[in-house]
Amino acid sequence: MPVSLCLTSPNCFRTFSLVPNPAMAPGPNSLMWFRKGLRIHDNPALEHAAKGCGCLYPVFVIDPHYMKPDPVTFSPGSTRAGLNRIRFLLESLVDLDANLKKLGSRLLVLKGEPSEWDIKRLCFEYETEPYYQALDCKVKNYASLAGIEVFSPVSHTLFNPADIIQKNGGRPPLSYQSFLKLAGKPSWASFPLVTKLNPLSAIGHVGNCEISEVPTVQELGYEDTREDELTVFRGGESEALRRLRDSIKGKEWVANFEKPKGDPSAFLKPATTVLSPYLKFGCLSSRYFYQCIQDVQKNVERHTSPPVSLLGQLLWRDFFYTVGFGTPNFEQMRGNRICKQVPWNDDDDELLAAWRDARTGFPWIDAIMVQLRKWGWTHHLARHSVACFLTRGDLFVHWEKGRDVFERLLIDHDWAINNGNWLWLSCSSFFYQYNRIYSPISFGKKYDPDGEYIRHFLPVLKDMPKEYIYEPWTAPLSIQTKAKCIVGKDYPKPVVSHDSASKECKRKLAEAYELNKKLNGVVSNEDLQGLRRKLEEKESQEPRPKRLKQKLISWRPK
Ligand SMILES: Cc1cc2nc3c(=O)[nH]c(=O)nc-3n(C[C@H](O)[C@H](O)[C@H](O)COP(=O)(O)OP(=O)(O)OC[C@H]3O[C@@H](n4cnc5c(N)ncnc54)[C@H](O)[C@@H]3O)c2cc1C
Repeated sequence: MPVSLCLTSPNCFRTFSLVPNPAMAPGPNSLMWFRKGLRIHDNPALEHAAKGCGCLYPVFVIDPHYMKPDPVTFSPGSTRAGLNRIRFLLESLVDLDANLKKLGSRLLVLKGEPSEWDIKRLCFEYETEPYYQALDCKVKNYASLAGIEVFSPVSHTLFNPADIIQKNGGRPPLSYQSFLKLAGKPSWASFPLVTKLNPLSAIGHVGNCEISEVPTVQELGYEDTREDELTVFRGGESEALRRLRDSIKGKEWVANFEKPKGDPSAFLKPATTVLSPYLKFGCLSSRYFYQCIQDVQKNVERHTSPPVSLLGQLLWRDFFYTVGFGTPNFEQMRGNRICKQVPWNDDDDELLAAWRDARTGFPWIDAIMVQLRKWGWTHHLARHSVACFLTRGDLFVHWEKGRDVFERLLIDHDWAINNGNWLWLSCSSFFYQYNRIYSPISFGKKYDPDGEYIRHFLPVLKDMPKEYIYEPWTAPLSIQTKAKCIVGKDYPKPVVSHDSASKECKRKLAEAYELNKKLNGVVSNEDLQGLRRKLEEKESQEPRPKRLKQKLISWRPK
């Protein structure tokens, strides 16, 4: 009797029918299911699938769960992958296919129902994201019913998050330092990461299944593909390894790497590696990256250490994976025991839209949001600036809303890291010094006094004298006229007054922290509503010029 093995969400269109076929080669037929881990190097799942198998089916299933081609409106439910990330993914698949072909195989992008494959071994990389956890649980149950061996090794992260949580008595460590202590040095750190693959077994009969080439973004329904909106970063393992080689060839640069010291406004040559999208899709193995950094460190006299070193950055990644894996409701405020309960504005769509569409009237913030939309990537401190501005710094908008926008726009979007950093930046978890706010005016100026970054991403301000480029609304009208940029007409006025808005945010957070302390973190919906009312009453008693008039609601950066 055929057994169906559904590799995506229940209502999805891909189903594998596994029918015994006695005519096949003697070894078990293996199916290598690529999800992330889009690489040949350091890929234990692929290695296991290939070992002594009859036929090998390397498969990628296009999962509609992650695709919602609605780039403009951000309508509810359309917050998954934007054009740039999907394009990056497809490029990574083309590269994976080419690399598999070099090994005598190819990638099968499934469009139909593969029957008569007689799969006896199913291999895929272990995943900690809740979506994959639920999916993999179902897949394993189906496989067990069908008598199929499942091999699902941990190879996306440096450590197995479950091991760290177990060492900590069943709870994830909530500070980086305690994570480091528990993690120690990875067991594989001193051994070469060898993946024995050559040559790969042939693909068996594909039966009636429709096998397609890697589709284009247009075929997936993404229509708005104007070139100027497309990211400058190309996807794929080959590009990842080239970028890695480039990043580590400057031994001194690696040895002295110290974050957060880099310049967030450096766009011609970013101050960090820009390897995050490759790590996200697993085009680059984080373990291989770790070993390469380790090799550089062995050959220099002195080097920086975690948390600021380059190795330390990779450990931040594992830290967030571990906390995300071990914390129920990590991606939301309600029901998340490590998240402060705060009465954020969650219905101020106008302010959210102004931030998202780069029309807050603060050039530093708007330029970052343009870079994010166009490149799908910005420097870490640039992310800090805009996340702080949206939440606890100025607009007091719910961090989940900002997280959704990042999820859509980032090519490196990663469930654990994105949520973890939004929790951090909004002072909802990990970091609690809500009095320390990034100024949307002076922070960027420190790195880029001439405003070159702003001029590049917001060409409307390209002729604004440097004295005014961070605060164009303060420029005399004659200067605005000369710069061909009248504030309120060619570029928006600021949506808030930073001084009063940031003071108000601090006050609100102080009250929210007080409430969390009083109720020992167990804050109900009613408690939060009560606090919201109290804050609103105070606001009406002492009106502050927080919100400024924003007429140019339809302005869009060119
Ligand atoms: C609000 C916010 C949201 C973020 N969302 C994401 C996300 O969805 N995906 C993502 O990969 N990073 C995210 N980051 C973390 C960080 O900004 C990026 O990892 C980094 O900027 C990527 O650039 P890079 O590869 O040049 O980093 P490098 O400095 O070269 O670091 C090397 C690698 O270390 C890891 N890393 C670096 N910083 C962090 C960090 N703070 N937390 C976890 N891992 C880190 C990344 O995998 C990165 O590629 C977010 C940060 C903020 C403030």
